[in-house]
Amino acid sequence: MTPVVPRPEPLGPPGSVGIPFVTTWSGELPSLFSELVARPGGRGLGYCHERPGDRDEHGVLWARTEGAWGDGEPRLADQHPLRQRQAMTHMCCQICAGPASRTERGWLFLAGQRPDGARPAVRQLEAAHVMNPPVCLPCAAVAARRCPHLRPRPVAFRARWVKALGVQGVLYGPTPFGLVVDPRVEALPYTSRFVAWMHASQLVVEVRRVTLIDLQHELAHPRPASAP
Ligand SMILES: [Zn+2]
Repeated sequence: MTPVVPRPEPLGPPGSVGIPFVTTWSGELPSLFSELVARPGGRGLGYCHERPGDRDEHGVLWARTEGAWGDGEPRLADQHPLRQRQAMTHMCCQICAGPASRTERGWLFLAGQRPDGARPAVRQLEAAHVMNPPVCLPCAAVAARRCPHLRPRPVAFRARWVKALGVQGVLYGPTPFGLVVDPRVEALPYTSRFVAWMHASQLVVEVRRVTLIDLQHELAHPRPASAP
């Protein structure tokens, strides 16, 4: 299936970008609830005036934003809907938007520490649902030093198999009084018949054939890149 989002232009050389590509900025306003409508015939959610690019290749409606990267103040906890989807779709680094690191062990991802500080086992990462796009090796080194949720020891893993599974967002339902939010559901697979009612804001991928790696060792001894 052909992606409908273009591959992003890199923000700068790997390891040189201060604010990640996927970060949302305060000037990038989200789309308004008043723009949403129930499509006739129970065909799910739509916009009053839909534009090319409002839907992904599965027909799911995506949140719109205004503005551009760098408008206002960075909101480091929030990933921009379009840029997160671009990075995930094209396996670009979530920080510099250049190609993510890929070796014979797979694509490189970083994960935060668990609340108890324990490192996850491979079986806990196998078939995990991931919303943080991969990274390149130089940016991984910077993130490991700077990101509080990755300290003191970042969890780094590689996945040979990565597949788009579905979307995270806000699930709406039609009622005689208009659209209402279903707060019980935050994410749905593309195979769900309810996904037509999702207002998507993040692409969720499933990772398999996972290997936990020692990031510091890979930084000191880079392995050959694998062909795409
Ligand atoms: Zn990078």
